[in-house]
Amino acid sequence: MTYVIAEPCVGVKDGSCADVCPVDCIHTTPDADMYFIDPEECTDCGACVPQCPVAAIYPEDELPREWSRFRDVDGGPFGPGGLSGAPVPRRPMPSVGLGEIGAEPPSDNFR
Ligand code: SF4
Ligand code: SF4
Repeated sequence: MTYVIAEPCVGVKDGSCADVCPVDCIHTTPDADMYFIDPEECTDCGACVPQCPVAAIYPEDELPREWSRFRDVDGGPFGPGGLSGAPVPRRPMPSVGLGEIGAEPPSDNFR
């Protein structure tokens, strides 16, 4: 399990939680409008929760349903997209099958 930062942090981003995290796993970037918890590093100690002035931090299994998208990313900025500030979808976008660039059309019907 991990703890998750949800929507109330957006725009507040005061860093109080990061100041008390014993394993320094709460991060942000200048471009992001909130902080994120690295799920690989979080030890579930709960120390960050009472520090938040807007009650934005929840254990993953207690996250309110309306904020589930804050859990349904692969670690937010810690996912494959890196620390970009943009949530990363858990599933990759489907292939659109455009074929090989520069390949000849399959028949004269396409000329
Ligand atoms: S629960 Fe503990 S380890 Fe996890 S982010 Fe909060 S302070 Fe850090
Ligand atoms: S203490 Fe709360 S509002 Fe402040 S950065 Fe952490 S999660 Fe966001």
